[in-house]
Amino acid sequence: MKALVYRGPGKKEWVDKPKPTIEKPTDAIVRITKTTICGTDLHILSGDVPAVTDGRTLGHEGVGIVEEVGTAVSSFKPGDKVLLSCITSCGRCEYCKKGMYAHCEDGGWILGHLIDGTQAEYVRIPHADNSMYHVPEGIDDEALVMLSDILPTGLEIGVLNGRVQPGDVVAIIGAGPIGMSALLTAQFYSPAEIIMVDLDDNRLQMALSLGATRAINSSDGKAIEKIMELTGGKGVDVAIEAAGFPATFHICQRILAPGGRLANVGVHGKPVDLQLQELWIRNVTITTGLVSTNTTPLLLKAVTSKKLQPEKLITHRFPLDDIMKAYDVFSQAAKEKAMKVILYAD
Ligand code: ZN
Ligand code: ZN
Repeated sequence: MKALVYRGPGKKEWVDKPKPTIEKPTDAIVRITKTTICGTDLHILSGDVPAVTDGRTLGHEGVGIVEEVGTAVSSFKPGDKVLLSCITSCGRCEYCKKGMYAHCEDGGWILGHLIDGTQAEYVRIPHADNSMYHVPEGIDDEALVMLSDILPTGLEIGVLNGRVQPGDVVAIIGAGPIGMSALLTAQFYSPAEIIMVDLDDNRLQMALSLGATRAINSSDGKAIEKIMELTGGKGVDVAIEAAGFPATFHICQRILAPGGRLANVGVHGKPVDLQLQELWIRNVTITTGLVSTNTTPLLLKAVTSKKLQPEKLITHRFPLDDIMKAYDVFSQAAKEKAMKVILYAD
């Protein structure tokens, strides 16, 4: 079969490799019908995730058709259409029992990281009963691909960790796919304002069309002043960091109202300057996290009822065979006006 493999920092290749086989009774083999590229894949390619080794198939998002199941898999059978979670969970370990699937002792984020992932014609899914979802009838596959990772991440690590409440003023720093997912799911909780901050006017325009009430281009370095002015000098109730840079974290820590919550979602590669001397007296909360995807069932229902339309984040589509071209487009997102790309093989 064909697969997109990591070849060391800066290098990837679309190669032939053996089709995966059942290794444990709890495994399933899934034929990929739709997948996508994540910002995390770009981090891996730039060498930021050293646990990923030469020859690893990338990708941790997708929808597909079950091809084969191990003898211990009871909820799925060949032919079933499934949504793959980016998080693998055994359902039995201490962390799974607490609902922290991200930290499953025999799973967590392993797809396209520690085991071969979804940017291929077939993928092996360990602990299939706990790590896949049946696709409801009549639901758009492309929308579902957004539920493998970005929507649960925006909701769990941004909106829920940030405890967004009715009437809140929310700022989201970073209007990439994760920031947009936080924007879409924050609206479940009716905040009064959602202020979107980014360097790219095209992304800010998209954010306004998806429900942001204000958009601030931060390329002049004045985002903090502008947000303070917009909020009458008070600051925001929730600042969602969805970029992963010291500068964007800094904006978040400087715009919090007393009692504010800073929900960090961004993947940080460098230390940040935590200004605790300003923050300690302001009753603020700072949260971090890796998605557990335990909100996937509720997101599935929200997509089915059209309360949530994550397909609006899709800007480009390519046949799976054209994945190298899709990477070129996704890695030049500003120039290409790209948000999420869909790779299809059906
Ligand atoms: Zn991802
Ligand atoms: Zn577990």
